[in-house]
Amino acid sequence: MKHDDETKITVSAVYRLLIASFFTSLAFAAFFYIYPSVHIIDSIIPALDATLLLIVLIYYHYNPHTDINKIIVFFIIFFILTFSPSTIYYVVMAWKMEWRFIDEYPPITGLVMAIIMLGIIMLPKQYLHYMVLMWASIALPIIYYLLHHPDELQTPRGYELIGTFGPASLLLYIVFPYRKSIRRHINKVTGDLRRYELEAGRDYLTDIYNRRGLDLWLGQLNHDDNIAILLIDVDHFKQINDRHGHSIGDRILVEVASRLRTIYFEKHTIARWGGEEFAVVLVNPKTNTLPFIGSMFQHALGHLPYKSVGKVTVSVGVSSLSHHDDFLELVEQADKALYTAKNNGRDQAVMYNSIHPQLAD
Ligand code: GH3
Ligand code: MG
Ligand code: MG
Repeated sequence: MKHDDETKITVSAVYRLLIASFFTSLAFAAFFYIYPSVHIIDSIIPALDATLLLIVLIYYHYNPHTDINKIIVFFIIFFILTFSPSTIYYVVMAWKMEWRFIDEYPPITGLVMAIIMLGIIMLPKQYLHYMVLMWASIALPIIYYLLHHPDELQTPRGYELIGTFGPASLLLYIVFPYRKSIRRHINKVTGDLRRYELEAGRDYLTDIYNRRGLDLWLGQLNHDDNIAILLIDVDHFKQINDRHGHSIGDRILVEVASRLRTIYFEKHTIARWGGEEFAVVLVNPKTNTLPFIGSMFQHALGHLPYKSVGKVTVSVGVSSLSHHDDFLELVEQADKALYTAKNNGRDQAVMYNSIHPQLAD
């Protein structure tokens, strides 16, 4: 679950990075189209980048389930290939005295640093060393060159370049712990949320599902599952409370829940429906076994004496079998059957089907 959330965050981050990179490349391409550079490489690379990014964006749009790690790897290789070779090209040519590096190197310093910074913040941990590699493949040749060409270093552009790729790169290092604490925080919040969601579906006293939990459970049933419902109500519970006190009453409810837990049925669940009433949902039971199952629950709960109070009985109302979409209707049926069981003297299980129509209403 936690993993899913992290993936979602990564997917949306990578998608945004792709879009932003596309528009940046497009802007550079337009700029060099309007103001052509003497270096053909300046005009080609942004246009090529914009086209490549557009292709990936279109592909991703039509194949949204593409493994995000493939897109990330593309993205990293793409950036390394965009900035590193051109940086090395300018350094090598300047070294060969073709030109002065600081005059010709394109104004991409801010862009490179921004992309590396975003990569460090947004990409999953396993890609961080690629960001470091990208920084090293660009920053180290430039620093090395400038340190060997003091005349170029001692100019405004020279200072700016060495400042950005030298001391200012330490800022990248500051982002690492920041990123780690953000991720830790997100994981903690996600974990807490899951726990609260889980707790919200449980009854505090008996630690079985409450109605909300039961509702979620029903939502996970298969499309064509049929269900039957048992409503189980403790007989004369008010008297137990009156005679033994509310906390003993509570203990009886906990005991009822733990007895319910021990009853085996192929696929079913139990929930506290409210007060001293419990619900059992049976999935795909055989219709002819329903009366037997109703009695089985009644005996399992009422047969053995309870601690502190002795004998406690329950009445059970059993619905008919129907598609799980008819849940509320089945509850109504079980409720009517339970009402009949109470009227007939309690301590018994009654099938909805066997109720006479007049009695049922
Ligand atoms: P019947 O056999 O007709 O079901 O009678 P009853 O006394 O069990 O039913 P009634 O509805 O008159 O009383 C139910 C009582 O259950 C009233 C209420 O105070 C008590 N009750 C509901 N929830 C709790 C709970 O969480 N703890 C305790 N101790 N009592 C509860
Ligand atoms: Mg009762
Ligand atoms: Mg009741």
